[in-house]
Amino acid sequence: MAVYKTVQRQMLLDFLKAHPGQTLTVKEITAGIAENAGSAPSESTIYRLMRELVESGTVKKDVNVESRENVYYLAESGDSGVSMRCRVCGNVYSVDDESSRRIKDEISRCGTALPDDNIEFIIKCKKCGR
Ligand SMILES: [Zn+2]
Repeated sequence: MAVYKTVQRQMLLDFLKAHPGQTLTVKEITAGIAENAGSAPSESTIYRLMRELVESGTVKKDVNVESRENVYYLAESGDSGVSMRCRVCGNVYSVDDESSRRIKDEISRCGTALPDDNIEFIIKCKKCGR
């Protein structure tokens, strides 16, 4: 049983890694895995695995403002440490390394101590800005 669970968890992580910067509902994740692998764990299994991944900090949970549904995304999206998150749809957009470095330089130039290395800008994305 434990082995099977590890396989399911890996499927889940692989799927999230294949969709960087996207926030996905459990329903979308289940459907996506089923499409890729031919079969998928049940939604309740995905929910349970997601809760564990959120607790361990691997995955972040958010709530879509429009649908009120829980959405999930990989915590490591935005490897550069700087990301932009749409406050309407919750999508996360990464910032390229060069821009990230300049933003961090600019912040440290002002002498601000960062609580951690991750900086998140809250934006309204083009899709939601219309
Ligand atoms: Zn948006």
